[in-house]
Amino acid sequence: MRNVKTVGLVGGGVIGGGWAARALANGLDVVAYDPADGAEEILRGKVANAWPALEQVGLAPGADQGRLTMAGSIGALAEAADFIQESAPERLDLKTRIHTEIDAAAAADVIVASSTSGLLPSDFQADCSHPERVIVGHPFNPVYLLPLVELVGGRKSSQQSIDAASKFYASIGMYPLHVRNEIDGFLSDRLQEALWRENLHLVNDGVATTKELDDAIVYGPGLRWAFMGVNRTFALAGGDEGMRHMLRQFGPALKLPWTKLEAPELTDDLIEKMVEGTEQQIQGTGIAELERLRDQCLIAIMTALGDFNEGAGKLLKEQRERLGQAE
Ligand code: NAD
Repeated sequence: MRNVKTVGLVGGGVIGGGWAARALANGLDVVAYDPADGAEEILRGKVANAWPALEQVGLAPGADQGRLTMAGSIGALAEAADFIQESAPERLDLKTRIHTEIDAAAAADVIVASSTSGLLPSDFQADCSHPERVIVGHPFNPVYLLPLVELVGGRKSSQQSIDAASKFYASIGMYPLHVRNEIDGFLSDRLQEALWRENLHLVNDGVATTKELDDAIVYGPGLRWAFMGVNRTFALAGGDEGMRHMLRQFGPALKLPWTKLEAPELTDDLIEKMVEGTEQQIQGTGIAELERLRDQCLIAIMTALGDFNEGAGKLLKEQRERLGQAE
């Protein structure tokens, strides 16, 4: 793969905006394409909202919001970019069409990654003449702070493309996780979806409010997950005997079963309960303000974890050291 100086972003919404902010903060040029009315203003607004957090995390030499330009078409973008990240709406037909268009215009050594949350790269590459460079690079919101990016190859993706994309993502402070099997939903969203389904059931059945369910995570398991994940956490639940004792003790509950797994029907009533509940929770705070609060909390958590060389904190510490901004 070529040296990446210009990142091409197809789609400038929540995720495209996050990619733009991360790439610009790392001293790269960004060229973006989004057909929506007012897309440029919206995208620049997203980058500006993220910038204070990025200044705290550390900007690379030359990092400048002004290095973002808009392209008039996917073709023009593909000709200008050294690495392309597609973050268009989550619709297979649209994404497949976009990938065919990118493929026709981008040089063969340009990697094309999709931000999709769970669609398969084999589908995107089906009509491409260079399918080997088409992969999934699934990030997490906010892309400019959370380091995880899941890399998934399709049937025709080459290992070189996965390796080159891993190297590029690592160079902009990310943690590339290779999902070795091409499965729907990848790893992280499958885990998140299991929790989400149960969350919806508990609201639907009138068992708990959205706030009570958030409290059930925020004051407890959420704190552990940030640095131990599910499995290391549960290994400790087994005391000195670790996972074996944990499974002996709590395994039978799996058969009861506590959880439902099948998603509930998204009825109007359930949608209203979810919307009303979360509106009450964020009452008086605008979304942009809440995003800035989230960013501050994430930076604080990652900075604290850096002292212990754990998880995302270790990565942030290494990035700050690279930039000569270690505290
Ligand atoms: P979004 O709705 O915020 O943004 C999508 C953008 O794509 C919009 O700005 C829209 O104008 C633009 N668009 C529409 N048609 C287009 C076209 N033909 N070419 C280029 N751009 C076009 O959605 P999002 O949340 O940013 O999601 C984008 C992708 O990222 C999806 O594949 C989604 O699954 C994935 N993703 C989302 C999240 C999340 O938390 N929102 C997390 C990880 C991955």
